[in-house]
Amino acid sequence: MTESLGITPEENFAKLIQNWNNALISYQTPIDFCGETSIFQVNGDSDSKSDSPIIVMSNRGFSLRKELMQMQREASKERREKMLPPRWTNDGDLCFLCDNVGQAESTGTNLLLDFNTYKDHIVVPNRYPIMRGHCLLVSKKHDGRNLHSALSLEYFDTIANLAETYGFHIIRNHAQAGMSIPNHEHSHVIPRKLFTDDGVEVLSYYPQNYRFLRTDYGEGIFALEGSRFDTLGFDRRKAIDVFQKCLKELDRNKIIFTFGYVIPKEAEGKNGLFLLTPHKKEDANRTVAGESPLYTKTIRAGSAFSYPEYMSFLSEHIYARGEFPWHNYIS
Ligand SMILES: [Zn+2]
Repeated sequence: MTESLGITPEENFAKLIQNWNNALISYQTPIDFCGETSIFQVNGDSDSKSDSPIIVMSNRGFSLRKELMQMQREASKERREKMLPPRWTNDGDLCFLCDNVGQAESTGTNLLLDFNTYKDHIVVPNRYPIMRGHCLLVSKKHDGRNLHSALSLEYFDTIANLAETYGFHIIRNHAQAGMSIPNHEHSHVIPRKLFTDDGVEVLSYYPQNYRFLRTDYGEGIFALEGSRFDTLGFDRRKAIDVFQKCLKELDRNKIIFTFGYVIPKEAEGKNGLFLLTPHKKEDANRTVAGESPLYTKTIRAGSAFSYPEYMSFLSEHIYARGEFPWHNYIS
């Protein structure tokens, strides 16, 4: 770190985000991309003890995302055709994330934290953020979908450190569910506290009515009560090794999964859990992004959102609570 840290994650977040505008400008993302962000939480059937709220958001920029990505591709092509010198390592490389890493290393203009803060990863704004503060934790190396090396203990340590220091929740999507750049390891980094349009504070990815129950899988491994999906929580200290082995075993058996690191409200910014949710089938359109217990759905501004339709869609893809044979993967 080049700057000293504050006392609370909120203070650290406020410092980190000071570089946000300049980093977005360095990506040529319109500065008002996150303008007019609208956030609301839909709670579903309040009589049900196993239902999952959804945070729905829209912002003006999101509707332009595809258009901007296309412009980005065309600009790269044009630079190549004009044989302009590269601005940084991997400038205009086919993988957008390699391009981001090259820019971070050669110029630092897109960075929110010093390039060497973490050994194998960098923190940059999502080029097309769904809200202010939406960042990516990106591996410095293009892994070509080699999960065995990508899912290192160091990665999990970095995730937990970043979440706890700056007040984030961190979500890793899966290449066969909701990941748009599958060959370069990255996770989404979302501010822990969000405010709805009505000014109500909601915790991203951690509704207050959820509880973690002990399981017979061993100390430090919890079942999530209150979600309709089958999700386990792994205590960082006690279960990290088991968690890593479990992910690799799932991958070996071609089970699609998402995981995230969330910090319970009562934990006051520390002692988060790695949550893991297996999926029962691929989503060909790559739209099942996010992690149980709380999914975030981004819609075009002004579009309608149907809770029953969206939950029924998620339920087609994700195992229901009690349905997944965890004992095959946790020894
Ligand atoms: Zn790459």
